[in-house]
Amino acid sequence: VPELPEVETIRLGLTPVLMGKRLDEVRILDARLTRPEPPEEVEARLTGQRVETVLRRGKYLIFELSSGDHLLVHLRMTGSFRYGGTDLSADPYVRAVVRLDDGSDVAYRDVRRFGTWLVIEGDDLGDYLATRLGPEPFAATFTAASLAASLAGRRAPVKAVLLDQRTVAGIGNIYADEALWRARVAPERAGLTLDAAEVKALHRGVRAALRAGIDRQGATLRDYRDPSGASGTMQDEFRVYGRDGAPCPRCRTTITKTRIGGRGTWFCPACQRADNALGRRR
Ligand SMILES: [Zn+2]
Repeated sequence: VPELPEVETIRLGLTPVLMGKRLDEVRILDARLTRPEPPEEVEARLTGQRVETVLRRGKYLIFELSSGDHLLVHLRMTGSFRYGGTDLSADPYVRAVVRLDDGSDVAYRDVRRFGTWLVIEGDDLGDYLATRLGPEPFAATFTAASLAASLAGRRAPVKAVLLDQRTVAGIGNIYADEALWRARVAPERAGLTLDAAEVKALHRGVRAALRAGIDRQGATLRDYRDPSGASGTMQDEFRVYGRDGAPCPRCRTTITKTRIGGRGTWFCPACQRADNALGRRR
């Protein structure tokens, strides 16, 4: 499932391919991609437009078009882009193909079909994102104080608060577990029980976990690839995620798997002790 590091890697791969190019032909092969809008309408809005720039906000890719419109793409479970290299004409999972004015094709591929393409007028983009997303994790607006404000009064597990995109944009199941391990905070702790030092450690942990993912071009578990078809390598660097039964890289205690809010959750029961609740220091 692409999270911020995977989406950022895709953005970096697509930028040189798409910047300044005109979309000569847009074919949407799966009506589910654009619903409730009919695919023909989205095709018409995109065709003939130049891509001014490719941005990212949280897990959204944002293609800024010469018309002033924005194409907002959310990859959800298994969405990805492909450019160059392999022949995609026989690939049953290709849901859209864009022909550029240099004659090359960019394909959108999605096995599970949860991804979305949405065209938003320039003026509406800010509001659309503001109601859904909190600060970007590397922006100056994401601070230990803003994180503390998001955790205050929350009886929900701290992991669930991190997965809420309004706390900080771009974190999913993988980087939530990795950030909590780095911060030595148990994932099931109620948000309101974290003390100031723990919040500070978690703020640092969020940034460090995401930075590690970006530096390794994301994590390839099943479907994720960058636009050239290459895998990321973050999966080889996970501290806890998916590693139940393996030793904690910090203390060698066996990593445990549990479920929080229905999501598989991995943690070190020694480094991330749940009874540090209520502000008691280690
Ligand atoms: Zn440990």
